[in-house]
Amino acid sequence: EGLPKGLINWKKAPCRFCGVGCGLLIGLSDGKAVAVKGDPKSTVNKGLCCVKGYHSVMAMYGKDRLTRPLIRENGKLVETSMEKALDLVAGKMQEVINTHGKDAVSMYGSGQWTIPDGYVASKFMKGAIGTNNLEANARLCMASAVTGFISSFGLDEPMGCYEDIDHADVFVLWGNNMAEMHPVLFSRLLDQRLKRPDVKIIDLATRTTRTSVAADRSILFKPQGDLAIANAICYELVENNWIDKGFIEKHCSFKEGKTNIGYGLEDKFKFSDKAGTITFEDFKTFLQDYRPDKVEAVSGVSARDIKYLASLFGDPNKKVTSFWCMGANQHTRGTWINNLIYNIHLMVGKISTPGNSPFSLTGQPSACGTVREVGTLTHKLPHGVVANEKDRKMAAEIWKVPVERIPYKPSYHTVEMFRALDRGDIRFMWIQVTNPMVTMPKLNRYRDAVQKDDRFIVVSDIYPTPTTDIADVILPSAMWVEREGMFGNSERRTQHFEQMLDAPGEAMSDTWQIIEVARRMGFNELFPWSKEDHIEEIWKEYARFHEGKKHGMAPYEALKQAPGLQWPFVEGKETKWRFHAKYDPACEGNSFDFYGKPDRKAWIWARPYEAPPEIPDTEFPFWLNTGRVLEHWHTGSMTRRISVLHQAMPRSYVEINPEDAKSMGIKNGDQVRLVSRRGKIELPASVHERGQPTKGQVFVPFFDESLLINDLTLDAFCPISKQPDYKKCAVKLEKVNVI
Ligand code: SF4
Repeated sequence: EGLPKGLINWKKAPCRFCGVGCGLLIGLSDGKAVAVKGDPKSTVNKGLCCVKGYHSVMAMYGKDRLTRPLIRENGKLVETSMEKALDLVAGKMQEVINTHGKDAVSMYGSGQWTIPDGYVASKFMKGAIGTNNLEANARLCMASAVTGFISSFGLDEPMGCYEDIDHADVFVLWGNNMAEMHPVLFSRLLDQRLKRPDVKIIDLATRTTRTSVAADRSILFKPQGDLAIANAICYELVENNWIDKGFIEKHCSFKEGKTNIGYGLEDKFKFSDKAGTITFEDFKTFLQDYRPDKVEAVSGVSARDIKYLASLFGDPNKKVTSFWCMGANQHTRGTWINNLIYNIHLMVGKISTPGNSPFSLTGQPSACGTVREVGTLTHKLPHGVVANEKDRKMAAEIWKVPVERIPYKPSYHTVEMFRALDRGDIRFMWIQVTNPMVTMPKLNRYRDAVQKDDRFIVVSDIYPTPTTDIADVILPSAMWVEREGMFGNSERRTQHFEQMLDAPGEAMSDTWQIIEVARRMGFNELFPWSKEDHIEEIWKEYARFHEGKKHGMAPYEALKQAPGLQWPFVEGKETKWRFHAKYDPACEGNSFDFYGKPDRKAWIWARPYEAPPEIPDTEFPFWLNTGRVLEHWHTGSMTRRISVLHQAMPRSYVEINPEDAKSMGIKNGDQVRLVSRRGKIELPASVHERGQPTKGQVFVPFFDESLLINDLTLDAFCPISKQPDYKKCAVKLEKVNVI
């Protein structure tokens, strides 16, 4: 209504925001995006969108959009030309390399990078400069899903697809507020329940949310209790003989890992996660500590509820799909809880067939495509790892660089990279499409690090943020459909979008910014592409990394035509379920072929319950949990510029359990102070509103840059994935007396 009908030209693009990757149609008129609707041809969303998707194009038109580069002179940011800014970035990077060595420069990107952005970043840092100092913010959101997948199956990325929703009878959500974080996908669950009333949605969480309200059963557990619950479910499956012995014997082996491996709180830490083979009998012995009644205290869940959960997985007539996201991944034992969810599915043989998928969802639009597949993490290469000589040789051959240039040892993961900046081991950091001065845990420590005098920080973004505030150079970026690119969503679906609009002012795509800087540093031959065809050429070069491999990807021409295509793309066809001969054309022989592991079996891990590093005590008696809200995308740097979303959710708040609030005389809307050992903030109380934490817990969303909750969080992480835990630390709560 009110739109210039007939003048609108509709073009396809994946949504800019979450990892669901809804297909959109962008309405263009007179050089502007004026409308957006769900693409009915997209198998992801079938024409639907959530509130962020429907307003996504407005994110390009905020009043304070960065359109000109800024450089810091005498402490003040002043406008300059793009040419001069790029010269400065290249010159400074070279100067730091000359003075301190190539490992003193770093790049920090994002799961919101397009696939070409990530690819050129990897080629630039690892192939051209020769350092592994490349990380992405996906380390903060899905690294544990990667290590969980690799330790259980030897390969990364989910084995199922969204079509599982159409086949599953039971959905178990592990710490996953899907109604708000993956809303269109959640609507598909609700839709199935309407069509098939026997379908059950079980919400396992530490607080009630819109997801729990819509679920058939909401089971609340104590923070970190998920480790005990998952093992107790396995105990019940064995005890009741609900396991699939034939599947286990043929397709699984049992492993134990090291326990007591720390939380990475010290700067230098060592850990080991070597797998030792154990027998099924050993595994059964391990499970004896997890009899449901024995874990009630530590998990906060009754034995009756645990037995109920086990009965759902154990019912031979039910197909079960598990979904999880940050609740499981942002966890000091994130890899372990991923392993334990896989254990349950493997024990009952409900895996990698339609409706039976343990499915880790990603938060960002291309956390899979750019970070996991291209490999924009310190230890990774496109479809490989730096530690593997064959992978390094392949990268060197495709990139036409000497193999010795690509270091075989990973360097710093995200938290360590900022610690290295603090110490002075890193002097230069280029941050693109992410906002670490809002998202880093124990933020005040890292804010101090980046502001040290001889650190040089470059930030590419589309709006001012707390991260651009600390930059020495700000490069304005072209956003989303102002440039061509691809995103890869949670179900291994690569989605292409063309450039539909001109970027404002001198804004430039992140891909092209990197190419310009690389050329200024003398790497012209490695980045020979023209502005017109560079995305196509980059995709073709990238495709060489998976030529002839089981995870082959769709060609550029096919991606341009289709709303999105899933890999493995074999002989012109997508693969929906991996590892099963019936569904995976790449699976050889066996009914199942877990070809990522040397024994071609999936590994069932004995992973114990361990407490997190900081637990509430008399001084700091509450658990602090942090997360997202439906209306805002991550730190809100884009969605707060969309007036309707900003008005719907203008400010952060702290959710308090009504009993706790009552005992402290706190009413809804009262101003309260939250204090941890690391920092404090004051914000309004939310009691009886959208979400409700269990007694003794509080929850704060992180979208509000004026209320930085990460000043309070702890920088402990899973020592295997190096992903920090934003869900558990100790705080105290005080009522603020307003005069
Ligand atoms: Fe975009 Fe995610 Fe909403 Fe879909 S569910 S419209 S991908 S934000």
